[in-house]
Amino acid sequence: MSMIARRKFIQLSAVAAAGCFVQAGREVQAQDLPHLGTDDPMASAMKYTHDASSVDAASRPNPAPVQTCSNCALVQGNDGDEWRPCQIFPGKAVNANGWCSVWAPKA
Ligand code: SF4
Repeated sequence: MSMIARRKFIQLSAVAAAGCFVQAGREVQAQDLPHLGTDDPMASAMKYTHDASSVDAASRPNPAPVQTCSNCALVQGNDGDEWRPCQIFPGKAVNANGWCSVWAPKA
């Protein structure tokens, strides 16, 4: 397993663990959630930004050319919404044009 694949596995395992704390049967509404701040310690650790275009493509761990929260496998909520829940940041909403280092392509 490569270093990148191992890192992704560990990150996604953290996502699965975080998902265990989400209340079953209650769908999270993005408008109920505070916006994730870039000064949030976990957001900072994951290099989250509200503007994916500000990220140097060469620094991304995944080579896919277009990477935003709106096309990430981990985003939740409704297509077209500006702020959406994310499995990585439970209890917060991320910007549809944002990005973090855990970005993963939709299957
Ligand atoms: Fe969440 Fe994906 Fe956006 Fe990262 S890139 S904040 S994992 S939706």
